[in-house]
Amino acid sequence: MERLKTAIIGSGPAGYTAAIYAARADLKPVVFTGMEPGGQLTTTTEVDNFPGYPDGVDGPSMMVELQKQAERFGTEVRITYIEKVDLATEKGGIHTLHIQGGGSVEAETVIISTGATAKYLGLPSEQRLRGGGVSACAVCDGFFYKGQDVAIVGGGDTAAEEATYLANICNKVTMLVRKGEMRASKAMQHRVTNTPNIDLRYYSEVEEVMGETVVEGLRIKNNQTNTTDEIAITGLFIAIGHKPNTDIFKDQLDMDDAGYLITKGKSTHTNKPGVFASGDVQDKEYRQAVTAAGTGCMAALDAERYLQSLS
Ligand code: NDP
Repeated sequence: MERLKTAIIGSGPAGYTAAIYAARADLKPVVFTGMEPGGQLTTTTEVDNFPGYPDGVDGPSMMVELQKQAERFGTEVRITYIEKVDLATEKGGIHTLHIQGGGSVEAETVIISTGATAKYLGLPSEQRLRGGGVSACAVCDGFFYKGQDVAIVGGGDTAAEEATYLANICNKVTMLVRKGEMRASKAMQHRVTNTPNIDLRYYSEVEEVMGETVVEGLRIKNNQTNTTDEIAITGLFIAIGHKPNTDIFKDQLDMDDAGYLITKGKSTHTNKPGVFASGDVQDKEYRQAVTAAGTGCMAALDAERYLQSLS
């Protein structure tokens, strides 16, 4: 069977940054792209907060550039999906990755950068307007709604944090929480309630996002009174949580209650020797392209040092 020094699963900023570093360290990495080559950034438009792009860059172009940069140093990119893994438990053990559609590869080190997927409400109108004013990342897209009226859905820490972030940029933020209380920490709740331009509405659910090609408004249902009303907005932010893409690692790698991979201390080491995790798959706090890239770099350095420790 083919044996790789370093297999990288996932092709977002974490995976490609790991590939750049691993390739330059002569680990001859192979990136297995997964179902969504380029990762979450391929679903955003303008990326204005990645250092080094003074005029911004659109997400898909940035991912093409990252891929090219990784390939320049000898990374091989395979557009395939790993559907199962058998991770060795002993130091120096060989890991096996099974490819969807048949075939397997062995790897001395594995870097997991499979990311996380933002949850959406699932309304047809919401799905139709993704990229047309519906976003799951206020830090990425909030700036486009400067001075405008927007809404955010969710009552957790992310929604609270993003609502206050948006309130700084936008004219008014309507925050919709489906229960009569927020799940966010008390400190975050206080920040929300103390921000004058956040209109916090409990027991409120989105019934429909209005607009043909861009968001123009929302129909909101109060689930206590069963009444509806409409508001005019230009941006809708969904902040109801993310799902880390870790199903194939269940029962093999340590995860927290939400399924995020647990890494040791400040490193990218998982509980299996030679297996490292970088990017959103192990980070529910920051979830930025630049932080994902940073941990991708760390994972490649950790893999290189691990291989050195075997010889
Ligand atoms: P959470 O799972 O904590 O919260 C999700 C929120 O979305 C809840 O209010 C939930 O409502 C609501 N929700 C879920 N599904 C729907 C739906 N279909 N319609 C409407 N509302 C819905 O996710 P977060 O992303 O906020 O946080 C994830 C983790 O990251 C948490 O542990 C959080 O503490 C942490 N975090 C910490 C930060 C910090 O410390 N600075 C910043 C950001 C996140 P309900 O309560 O009714 O289920």
